[in-house]
Amino acid sequence: MSSERNAVSRRTFCKYAVSAGVALASFSALSSVASFAASGKGFAMPPLPYAEGALEPHISAKTISFHYGKHTKAYYDAVNKLIAEKAINAPSLEQVFLDAAKSPEGTALFNNAAQAFNHTFYWVGLTPGGANAPSGKLLKMVNTAFGNADGMKKALSAAAAGQFGSGWAWLVLEGDTLKVVKTPNAENPLQKGQKPLLTVDVWEHAYYLDYQNRRPAYVKAVLDNLVNWDIVAKNLG
Ligand code: MN
Repeated sequence: MSSERNAVSRRTFCKYAVSAGVALASFSALSSVASFAASGKGFAMPPLPYAEGALEPHISAKTISFHYGKHTKAYYDAVNKLIAEKAINAPSLEQVFLDAAKSPEGTALFNNAAQAFNHTFYWVGLTPGGANAPSGKLLKMVNTAFGNADGMKKALSAAAAGQFGSGWAWLVLEGDTLKVVKTPNAENPLQKGQKPLLTVDVWEHAYYLDYQNRRPAYVKAVLDNLVNWDIVAKNLG
């Protein structure tokens, strides 16, 4: 990504954050992803909220340079090309992929829009030196659904390990209840009416440079060290 493009993305993001009356440091992952309106130039890929090396030693700068700078960017580029070709003017990425999912001709648009959303949701949900556990209202809900925070982490780890091939493990809100689910490829819990709160990318590109085939070690490192539980709590809405 060029520095010019990065600057544009950052301005677009700041404009949204300010206009929505949301402090930059405390935006919700869901609203930050959902509200990047197509502005004629398409959806701007939001900047990482930390430096590429900030998640080391758990996720290397090299992984992030490829995973954010190449993979995530490629999804945004493909979405923007497709919505320009199809003259789609949807207000949010989630609207684009939910609409695209309704027709067989929408497969490419669905895959790229959902992956753009899923990746930004993933990046925003991580932070260097993430808190070790949820707190407050979120913790109460976690305790109700999973017994305790360790129970939730176990469920997330099992979902991540159990996803055959590429996909995602999620903490979601369904009605008033927290659940852990997994989705294959680009699929997103919003397709089933579940509200995403946290996701872990379990596509091999997320961990192979750092962990090779040891997906469970990568998932444990993320859950124990990098989750931004403040953002997860904000995603409750
Ligand atoms: Mn990925």
